[in-house]
This record gives sequence, structure tokens and C-alpha cells, in this order.
Amino acid sequence: MITRFAPSPTGPLHLGHAYSALTVWQQAARLGGTALLRIEDTDSTRVRPEYEAGIYEDLAWLGLKWPTPVLRQSERAGLYDTTIAALAERGLIYPCSCSRRAIVEAGAVPGADGMVYPGTCRMRGMETRNAGDALRLNVGLALARIAQPIQFEETGVQDAGLVHIDPAALCHTIGDPVLKRKDTGDPSYHLACVHDDAAQEITHVVRGTDLQALTPLHVLMQHLLGYPTPVYHHHGLVLDDAGKRLAKIDKSKALAKYRAEGATPDDIKQMIGFVD
Ligand code: GLU
Repeated sequence: MITRFAPSPTGPLHLGHAYSALTVWQQAARLGGTALLRIEDTDSTRVRPEYEAGIYEDLAWLGLKWPTPVLRQSERAGLYDTTIAALAERGLIYPCSCSRRAIVEAGAVPGADGMVYPGTCRMRGMETRNAGDALRLNVGLALARIAQPIQFEETGVQDAGLVHIDPAALCHTIGDPVLKRKDTGDPSYHLACVHDDAAQEITHVVRGTDLQALTPLHVLMQHLLGYPTPVYHHHGLVLDDAGKRLAKIDKSKALAKYRAEGATPDDIKQMIGFVD
């Protein structure tokens, strides 16, 4: 069993991250496995070295240990590009020049991953690609290319059991995701995450229920790319669980601030309602 904690160094870790990290290591211990740390530093406009340093410090302070070297996604751009190129070869990728505003004006509705892309550029071929275009996955076509039905095993707090993925719902609630971002050319979270879960042979993905609605897309991408589907364990969020009991919990306050004020790891566990 191999699981991972995969924070993005785009801000300091807060109580929600502490809950998530502790749950990842707890699941690894319960199932006799290993927990890896992965740095999801793909958003070059938002990542900062001091946030990455803070991740190592905060997790060590919580008493967590991980094997090194730690995988840093910013060092793997070539692998993500190769993966996108292979999907493009199969006609599953198209370039998109739409701005956020154009997407809203085209009548997009909010979905599980921001606005559901209305498909304005879907008919464009890769030969029309301009510098600065985003690259999107054609989900409708992708669904038609894989053997159905697709499913995953959920062991978390919501919808535990075998979850069958409804292709129509996937199109309507997520739509065609960006795999390579506009302007910066950074890989998207979906691509880098699915790629590296497979590369690191992750057997159990432990993460918050805030990401649960995206799992059908990740499973679709695993099928497309010939990757195995891990077991998913989506844990409850600090606000859902502890927030009800502790009205004054400040979910947005950095873990490092609590530490500087003299809190111990046990105090943090108590605050977030984490039971060892
Ligand atoms: N990097 C993602 C985040 O910080 C986590 C992704 C995941 O666990 O799949 O929200």
C-alpha cells in the first residue's frame, strides 16, 4: 500500500492541511503501507520557495516522516508534455484561446472544477494551436474511446463502496478540463496528479471530500492512459467535522502561527478533532 500527501506550496499550511496529512499517515499506518510526500508546485505564478520550506517544517513538527527524495512536479514538465502529446496524437486534445470572461459570456455554468467549459474551441485541430493557447481534453470523445462502465472503490466518509461513474454527469459537471495552462504552459493539477499517482505507484489516494467530485475525471484519465485506478479515501473537512464543535476554530490561520504561539502537535490534533 502506498499513499501520498500532495500539497501545493501556494500558501502556508493551515489546519485543514494538518488534518489531511495526519489522515494520510494514519491510513498508511492502518494498512501497513508507506506515505509519500509530493510537492504539487505546478502553478508557476503562485508557488513560493518559502511555502515549500514551510511544508517540510510543519509536517516534521507534526511528527510525520517521509522517504526522500521528494517528488517535485516542477521538475517534471517534460513528462507531462509527453503525456499530452500522446493524447493529442489520438485526437483527444484541442487548443483553446478562451479567456475566463469569454467562457462566462458563452453561458458556462459553475461545475465541480470551476466553470464547465462550453466547448467554444472544441472543434479546433492541433494544427490551429497558437502560442499561449491552453490545451484541453475532449471528455466526450475520451469517454467514447474507453470501455465502459468505469468505476472506483471509495473507502472514505461519503458514498463508500464501489462508485460507478456516470459519463453524462462527467460531461455536465466537469466538462473538458485544461491539461496545459494558457500563457504559462504549466501542466494542470489533473494531469500532473493522475500522471504522478501512477508514476509513484500510489495504491490509495487519501484526500479531502472537496476533491471527491473530481475523481471521476481522474479515473477517466487513468483509463485513457492505461494507468491503474487506486482506491480513494476522501476524508471529511475540518470545518465539517470539528467546526461544528469548535465555533472559534480559525481554519485559515497558518499552522506555523499556532506553533509560534506555543501550541503543541497534540493541541492541533485536538483542535481539528483528529483522533489517533
Ligand atoms: N495539490 C492538491 C491540493 O493541495 C492536492 C491534490 C490531491 O491530493 O489529489 O489541493
